[in-house]
Amino acid sequence: MKKMLFVFNPNSGKAQIKNQLMKIIQVFSDSGYEVTVYPTKAPMDGYQHIVDSEGRYDVIACSGGDGTLNETVAAILKYSGNKPPIGYIPSGTTNDFAASLGIPRNMVKAAAYIADGELFPCDVGMMNDQRSFNYVAAFGAFTRVSYGTPQNLKNVFGHQAYVLEAVKSLSTLKPEYMRVYSDEIETEGNFVYGMISNTNSVGGIKNLTGNDVDLQDGLFEVTLIRELNNPLAVQSLINAFLTKDLSKCDWVCTWKTKKVRFESPQPVSWTLDGEFGGEHKDISFSVKEKAVEFLIRGISEQN
Ligand SMILES: [Mg+2]
Repeated sequence: MKKMLFVFNPNSGKAQIKNQLMKIIQVFSDSGYEVTVYPTKAPMDGYQHIVDSEGRYDVIACSGGDGTLNETVAAILKYSGNKPPIGYIPSGTTNDFAASLGIPRNMVKAAAYIADGELFPCDVGMMNDQRSFNYVAAFGAFTRVSYGTPQNLKNVFGHQAYVLEAVKSLSTLKPEYMRVYSDEIETEGNFVYGMISNTNSVGGIKNLTGNDVDLQDGLFEVTLIRELNNPLAVQSLINAFLTKDLSKCDWVCTWKTKKVRFESPQPVSWTLDGEFGGEHKDISFSVKEKAVEFLIRGISEQN
């Protein structure tokens, strides 16, 4: 019998999993899995449990928000031997990465997709070769939002909480002076926002980083927004957001890369998959190509 470890955050996303748990386990069980269930008790608890479970399971499934998935992937990257495929049932307030993988919001349906899923090798980002992130590392304007918003507020307001905070933070932008190094582009200046991403959807906005995002091409998209020091700049950026083409804005730099490094005289706060990633004066990001495998519905069956 195939063995599955199912790790979930019981409090994520209005605790909606409480009404779905039996059905989810039933779906896995009907597909021939012997399921071990592990509700997480605190941040990094899921990570530790998965690390300690190396070699015991054929599949590691998880349910929760971005943080839960981040811990699951980070733990499996620690495995020295075989890396089991990952199943993901999103329950958080944002769904950017799950949407990129074609995972439905309906939790039982998402479980069914895992149960008869196909293997999808996926790139993973690394910060300073130490911490991993699945789809976005960022600094600046909007990045305080996610980890600055308490869980209960996230649950009540959901996506609106992010948008409200983002708009609010637009008026209090504090640019960060940075030098940026990569093989493709080197630049410097005052930036209000920067992100390194591998996702079709950012903050619920589809294709913000272009139509050609590929989750397994060994490349992440870099997006930098310069200081908006006049009304023309603000209007230009608003237009770029409205038309979903940031590359048309003169205050935005975008490119694809395998590796990028940021240097600044002052420490800059970063987020990784929406969670606090520490303050850094010298930070580099690289891509681990096809480092993990997700069990998702076959691309041919999507639409
Ligand atoms: Mg990519």
